[in-house]
Amino acid sequence: MPEMSFFQEVLANLDEANKHLNLLPAVYERLRNPRRALIVSLPVKMDDGRVEFFKGYRVQYDFARGPGKGGVRYHPKVSLDEVTALAALMNWKCAVVDIPFGGAKGGVECDPTRMSKSELERLTRRYTYEIGLLIGPESDIPAPDVYTDEQTMAWMMDTYSMMKGYAVPGVVTGKPVSIGGSLGRNKATSAGLVTVVVEALKHLDMGLDDLRVTVLGFGKVGYHAARILHEMGAKVIGVADSKGAIYNPRGLDIDAVHRHKTETGALKGFKPAEDMTVDDLLGIESDVLVPAALEGQIHRANVERIRTRVIAEGANNPITNEADRVLMDKNVFILPGVLANAGGVVVSYFEWVQDLQRFFWNEAEINQRLTAIIKKAFGEVLNISLEKKMDMRTAATVLGVQRVAEAIMIRGLYP
Ligand code: GLU
Repeated sequence: MPEMSFFQEVLANLDEANKHLNLLPAVYERLRNPRRALIVSLPVKMDDGRVEFFKGYRVQYDFARGPGKGGVRYHPKVSLDEVTALAALMNWKCAVVDIPFGGAKGGVECDPTRMSKSELERLTRRYTYEIGLLIGPESDIPAPDVYTDEQTMAWMMDTYSMMKGYAVPGVVTGKPVSIGGSLGRNKATSAGLVTVVVEALKHLDMGLDDLRVTVLGFGKVGYHAARILHEMGAKVIGVADSKGAIYNPRGLDIDAVHRHKTETGALKGFKPAEDMTVDDLLGIESDVLVPAALEGQIHRANVERIRTRVIAEGANNPITNEADRVLMDKNVFILPGVLANAGGVVVSYFEWVQDLQRFFWNEAEINQRLTAIIKKAFGEVLNISLEKKMDMRTAATVLGVQRVAEAIMIRGLYP
């Protein structure tokens, strides 16, 4: 039997949560369907003068608790199914950490690694113009995701502002600090993830000293998570990117690994470490595994190799539902993305609030508020999981969906 599509998997998790929630059929039906989805065709002039067309999406899953919120991803595998699944997860995620947003997500099907900076700028500007119908500080606020960054957000902010005729910093988050970005946003997802890991270790009676950590994906989330855990005394024994993995049982110097990757474009060849395949690294025993690349990284064919105690999802749904069940049978404690990677959208919320107030906070304030929100959410999810005897993913989905359902019911049906 083929594994399900990403959105089907998200719906299956919603069904599982609903066994405990028993939502009214009309509310449940609403939560199974995105509110709206826009598909755009983007003509972009390439550096050689040709015009190439790209397909882009923006899905607004639900606005019950506030404006839509969620990143924009550039990747060859972007599809309507993927963006819809990610928008639904943003909806639960914002509710799990109790920030006043609904869920949204965007993406463009393209290979950004083969495009020049000026091609990416033209693509971003045209995409922003086309989804300009939907986005805005009061309606839907994009942010970075896979292969988009501060520069992408600066172009989006500029394009939207040009359309309006005045500067609108609150239309996107994850911007450079010089145009209304927030201090601490860059490493926020990883900082939140580490907070969740530390809380989980306390619950499991495990310490940070000599903790063996493996990180899959060495983009912004994976790199900062590895760096912070390394600085806190854990041993990051393996890291992987899309091209391969490196392993050193005595622990890797994460800043040196980062320099090597920046200079050579790959992790491969870093010394002192052994080069290996990603699947081989998965087979090496660790205490904590952080999948921080794309969804479905851990699936039917490689899940049996995994020997770890805790998995903290830096990516959104890096484990297929089938693999999830195998890991749960092995008693692996899984920290789901809607909790473990929510630090990014929490600091996005702080950025948006600062932009709207035109009053900026210092980094200590941001970090302190972030830690408080993440710890509270972790405690709430853990309580549900213990009380109702369910895994952390179902517990987090129950918490998020329940909050969204409450908002839907109290607002009532229009007209
Ligand atoms: N792309 C990030 C996520 O999946 C951040 C979204 C945001 O800050 O709006 O959570």
